[in-house]
Amino acid sequence: MRLVTASQTIALDTQAKALLAAGHDVINLSVGELDFDPPTVVQQAVSQAVGNASNHYSPVAGLQASKQAVCAYEQAQHGVTYLPEQVLITNGAKQALYTTFLALVQPGDEVLVLQPAWVSYIEQIKLAGGVPVSVETTDQFSLDITAMERAMTDRTVGLILNYPNNPTGAVYTAALLQNVAQLAQEKKLWVISDEIYEHIIYGDVPFISFAKLYPHTVVVNGISKAAAVTGWRVGYAAGPVAIIQAMTALQSHLTGNVSNVMQAALPPALSNGLAADWLQQLQLRRQLVLDWVVQHPAVQLVSPQGAFYCFLDIRAFKMDSVTFCQRLLTDHHVALVPGSYFGRDGFVRLSFANSPDRIRVALERMDQFCAILSQ
Ligand code: PMP
Ligand code: GLU
Repeated sequence: MRLVTASQTIALDTQAKALLAAGHDVINLSVGELDFDPPTVVQQAVSQAVGNASNHYSPVAGLQASKQAVCAYEQAQHGVTYLPEQVLITNGAKQALYTTFLALVQPGDEVLVLQPAWVSYIEQIKLAGGVPVSVETTDQFSLDITAMERAMTDRTVGLILNYPNNPTGAVYTAALLQNVAQLAQEKKLWVISDEIYEHIIYGDVPFISFAKLYPHTVVVNGISKAAAVTGWRVGYAAGPVAIIQAMTALQSHLTGNVSNVMQAALPPALSNGLAADWLQQLQLRRQLVLDWVVQHPAVQLVSPQGAFYCFLDIRAFKMDSVTFCQRLLTDHHVALVPGSYFGRDGFVRLSFANSPDRIRVALERMDQFCAILSQ
């Protein structure tokens, strides 16, 4: 257990929420969760499921209706064909990722993680007995194919991709993704593609599921972000039958089936997608931060093309990111996440999945903090 660090994003969110509960006016821009209400059809499906004799154990891999909904969605949305036996319904994308690593990694096997990276990949790979190997991305947080190739050894079994990216918001072009697919093919690697932010893209770069480009892919996705139901814990993995079977066997010992009631949210959430209006609202919130950055030359930002995070470069303040975030939280009551938790000190992550009014007040408080630091 000494090898594993608890999720730092969740720890910070808990700290911010505790301060709020104690009566402090904290603005929580730490955790990545939308503040919208879930779509009505999704809420209704869950309410109905409570009354529908859903009290018994059900198949570990998921209800037939859930798996069929995933197959229909992946076909319509991404042009990828899956049979129901290629799908495993999980307690959030997080469990899908962990079970994938458990299934694919032998002790000592290496998995490439592109930095900066979401906090759980490295810890999960270690928990599965594997060795996470960090590969830096470019200055613009894009893929550095040469660096990826250089990091590969005889022990490399896989690569985890995440676009739109948490924490940078990077989205990769089709040409770059093709290069990754070619490299993975040459080196016979598994690719784990975390597609949880697929709907949240601001520019005109189309989203391409990696499974469309490369057959040895395990796609991980879920409804936490698109339906604003982070607490409901419904996700899935889709990939080659042998891997999904192994993952199902693991899940049969770890958790069994995902709550029948919560699975009822999956079909309507997938067919609804992300409300166009939510994307517009996120675009406006993103713009508030971009405008703020323009007024603060000490803070740099590569504009996020997707997801709902700004990964702010604060290196000009010559302060480590943990101290920066602790002082901002304690003295100015704004919660951000230190970049060092994502493998990149000198940066902080701001989640703009909060109301425009709260974001404006948070940015005013950050004005004050930056003024103090610049004195
Ligand atoms: N992948 C990424 C990149 C994330 O940011 C998150 C955080 N929610 C997850 C996976 C896990 O999502 P879920 O709530 O479905 O477990
Ligand atoms: N993925 C979100 C985040 O990065 C939720 C917290 C977590 O599971 O890490 O803030």
